[in-house]
Amino acid sequence: MVEKIVLDPFGTTLITDYSRLFEEFGLQRIDEKILERIKNPSRYLRRGITFAHRDFDKFLDAFERGEKIAVISGIKPSNEFHLGSKMTAEEMIYYQKEFKAKVFYCIADLEALVDNQIPLEKAKEIAVGNLADILALGLDLKNSFVYMQSREKRVTNLAYLFSRRVTLSHLKSLYGERPLGLYFAALTQAGDILLPQLKDFEGPKHVLVPIGIDQDPHIKLVRDLIPKVKEFNFIIPSSTYHKLQRSLKGEAKMSKRDPMSYISLSDEPEIAKKKVLNAVDGGRKTAEEQKRLGGEPEKCLVYELCLFHFIEDDEKIKEMYEDCKSGKILCGECKKRVAEIVAKFLEKHQKERRRKMEKARKILD
Ligand code: SF4
Repeated sequence: MVEKIVLDPFGTTLITDYSRLFEEFGLQRIDEKILERIKNPSRYLRRGITFAHRDFDKFLDAFERGEKIAVISGIKPSNEFHLGSKMTAEEMIYYQKEFKAKVFYCIADLEALVDNQIPLEKAKEIAVGNLADILALGLDLKNSFVYMQSREKRVTNLAYLFSRRVTLSHLKSLYGERPLGLYFAALTQAGDILLPQLKDFEGPKHVLVPIGIDQDPHIKLVRDLIPKVKEFNFIIPSSTYHKLQRSLKGEAKMSKRDPMSYISLSDEPEIAKKKVLNAVDGGRKTAEEQKRLGGEPEKCLVYELCLFHFIEDDEKIKEMYEDCKSGKILCGECKKRVAEIVAKFLEKHQKERRRKMEKARKILD
């Protein structure tokens, strides 16, 4: 029997076959028709990493009509910035640069409190580092609204209102049986997603929410809530979904409990190198076999690192794929090359991050 896919924003989501999601969850494909409307598609869009959407075409329509548009996403300050957080951050920065969308960046400290039991003061310290990371990645503060959930009354007020318009059985159908706090965290996220459409931010507008596929229940909740809060005239937000970065050890999702299974943007470059060298690859049992049969880049986490993050040039990633497939390159040499690329990226990023720390602290103080 085929196992049911469960998208769980508060737990672990295992997806081995992304093609099932379109039918099972009613998602739309990011296909050629969508891509040809975008002048300069991001690495994630070009490579099918951002693979699905709900109403992304409507967001593109609004952009083409020259309307004011916004993009919202955020981070739960429970840990250092890892490559999954980098994906969402880069997507927001991309829409800010290419679409002139205003970025709403939420630091979900209330969610860190109820989900991970991290006190607000500690979450703030983590958030300073997280914010410095996104600033180092290129967020332009001039067209951004950065906020901490616990201090943004407009968001919590919306969450209270939503809690009156939704039933417990509805929340259970979306999230399963959960502690009440997590249901309230979900309602708070609904408040975050709709914040850009409040009068204080020039009212209803098309908003894009770029997220990992495991976060889709939050989008469904918002879509269900909108008809119940007609007084706001909210426009249904659009959403895009990226694939989940697999753990370097080959599991379907990175585990924050095992630091060797993922790369954090705060990793010492030398440690990150070791992680790359120890990552699960798609090599064969012997060098002779690999030269004869070629490697299996589809299974290789080192290739995935480059595809998702570290090789921007499409020609170069194609070359890496072909060199692997043909057996021209062996894993030892390939991993060493990638380890150097990752270490260089981290050195540069961390230098920039240090420069942004003071600014990040000032914003959050
Ligand atoms: S050669 Fe490189 S891309 Fe191919 S399986 Fe080995 S590490 Fe992965």
